[in-house]
Amino acid sequence: APRVVVAGETLIDFLPDREGSLRDVESFTRRPGGAPANVAVGLSHLNETPAFSTRVGDDPFGDFLVETLADAGLDTDLVERDAEAKTSLAFVALGEEADRGFSFYRDRTADTRMEVGGVPDATLDAAEWVHVGGVTLTDEPSREATLDLMRRARDAGAAVSFDPNARPELWDEFDYGDSVAEAFELADVVKATPEDLAELDYEGDPADIAREITEAGPHTVFLTLGGEGSLAATTEASPWRDGGAGTGADEVSVVSHGGYDVDPVDTTGAGDAFTAGIVAALVEGKPLSEALAFANAVAAVTTTAAGAMTALPDREAVRAFREGAS
Ligand code: ATP
Repeated sequence: APRVVVAGETLIDFLPDREGSLRDVESFTRRPGGAPANVAVGLSHLNETPAFSTRVGDDPFGDFLVETLADAGLDTDLVERDAEAKTSLAFVALGEEADRGFSFYRDRTADTRMEVGGVPDATLDAAEWVHVGGVTLTDEPSREATLDLMRRARDAGAAVSFDPNARPELWDEFDYGDSVAEAFELADVVKATPEDLAELDYEGDPADIAREITEAGPHTVFLTLGGEGSLAATTEASPWRDGGAGTGADEVSVVSHGGYDVDPVDTTGAGDAFTAGIVAALVEGKPLSEALAFANAVAAVTTTAAGAMTALPDREAVRAFREGAS
């Protein structure tokens, strides 16, 4: 049985062939996406194939996504097809002049209709790690499905990780900040970017932000910092706390890794690749500092080719990349 479970949206990103307002874009490239789907595929590429729970429409876009997940080696047992709702689409605007707050076709789409129990107890009982994201918290019933999964995973003794994945335009019925706070309370591990947290009351340098998040519940916090790499904050309760390797004798220890030099082609999904790298490294017992380096390498390689899912590397590619980088 898989030792990792991932749950959340699978959708299609339509990437424009040019920067600027969508008013002026004429053609788009279809790419499979959805942060949790990217994480699930990333884990599969790293030979840590998870159980993946998601829901797409019973439509041609859903067919394409299910095929993509299966081609990536994922078991589609927990992939639901919704006859009454469509697959989510995201028309992405790029560049400085990109439209803000308008890109998703996600009104009562299949992903918002994920239900409690989508991940069976038997699957959870075998799991060591369960990962979810913030996008399925925007609407019911996927909101309760996500929160319920986090609670059951905790009860089953799995590590629970949460990525807020801020998308302000998706929030309407529920408050983003309140929802993230609720999820933080249920999470052992948070992975975020400083931008995800800008709307909330987290301020200061990244290490301070990470420290502050641990006060909301999680014992381990990862912040990704783009080309600057990433850091991890751990409390005494974290099983991955590096003995004395952090800065100072604080109650919260912070370790960081500066990332790798690459010429990024497309950074979409780099954060999800990072999550896949962290989970894969930690479930196999790697120390935190090695997990950070590994995850930064997985993410850096992902940025060197177009497409969030297609560019996710396997272990051999990560090994070769790290060898070339050192
Ligand atoms: P996205 O939303 O595009 O998926 P993100 O904003 O969630 O990404 P970032 O912090 O930008 O997350 O990137 C995640 C990780 O990807 C970083 O921690 C780093 O390891 C890697 N990365 C991103 N950009 C670069 C870059 N320019 N050079 C090297 N590594 C990068």
